[in-house]
Amino acid sequence: MSTRANRYTATVVAREQLTPHLVRVVLGGDGLAGLVSTGIPDEWVGLVVPGQFQSRYYTVRSWQDGLLTLDVMVHDVGLVTEWVARDCVGDEVVVTEPKGAFAMSDDARWLVLVGDLTALPAIARISEWHLARPGDRTIAVHAEVPDDLSAYLPAEVREHTTWLTPPAPGRSDLAEVVRGLELPAGDGYFWMGGESAQMRAIRTHLMRERGLPGAAYHVMGYWRSVVRRQPRAVDPGPIWRAGKAAGKSDEQIWAEYDAARDA
Ligand SMILES: Cc1cc2nc3c(=O)[nH]c(=O)nc-3n(C[C@H](O)[C@H](O)[C@H](O)COP(=O)(O)OP(=O)(O)OC[C@H]3O[C@@H](n4cnc5c(N)ncnc54)[C@H](O)[C@@H]3O)c2cc1C
Repeated sequence: MSTRANRYTATVVAREQLTPHLVRVVLGGDGLAGLVSTGIPDEWVGLVVPGQFQSRYYTVRSWQDGLLTLDVMVHDVGLVTEWVARDCVGDEVVVTEPKGAFAMSDDARWLVLVGDLTALPAIARISEWHLARPGDRTIAVHAEVPDDLSAYLPAEVREHTTWLTPPAPGRSDLAEVVRGLELPAGDGYFWMGGESAQMRAIRTHLMRERGLPGAAYHVMGYWRSVVRRQPRAVDPGPIWRAGKAAGKSDEQIWAEYDAARDA
């Protein structure tokens, strides 16, 4: 079986600077025909920008009427950062098949979402998914972002959102924030995305100190705080599927994903 993801060629049809650190890119064109959403609310695609061969992963903010919207964080340096900082309308890019990992059980009564700016598009989509589902479930969001993005989340979720400021550019305190959180009682689901070292610490904390079962949380490294060396772009999809097929716990699977990126 080939593990190579399907690839789609797309054209940038719009670019909008939402805030100083967040740029919306809308992709369109016939090349996207055949792209199918997984329906999983944290789904992402790999994006290859012109002149590059390495991909970077971006959440599908929306896929509607043949238009694929990605919200891209602008940081100090980076392949996609430098590309998106200029007028990229008309550029041709490549995206891979969407994949997702969010898996909240129907029994879960609460949902807690934590992330930095790279995870905010996923938090917004998961929030929309939560609001569209019938049932009596609570939601709480903790977002560590450098800009005022209070209007980015649906109004009903904003009142349950705590906004945090990153300690410094390219740094995150989310592991410390999560250690201090009081999670609701009963069955629930904890989802988190952000800097990889913080995510590793939180997986260990949730498992060992809180005793959360693996099915009750999903914590994923979205980027890595290193000055020179970048983690390899590793597609989490095959690792996730192979791990699940082998009966591994989420904790084991994401540890393997981290190891593959660091290799
Ligand atoms: C499943 C998944 C979904 C994602 N969804 C999104 C999304 O919707 N929007 C989004 O913006 N990002 C998202 N990311 C994160 C994004 O893939 C990374 O931030 C990516 O490294 C950015 O690429 P780049 O080419 O701009 O920078 P790179 O060339 O990868 O990095 C260059 C330098 O910037 C630093 N750096 C990288 N990312 C950050 C950061 N976020 N903050 C501070 N410094 C950083 C690195 O340490 C390095 O020094 C997602 C990641 C995953 C795994």
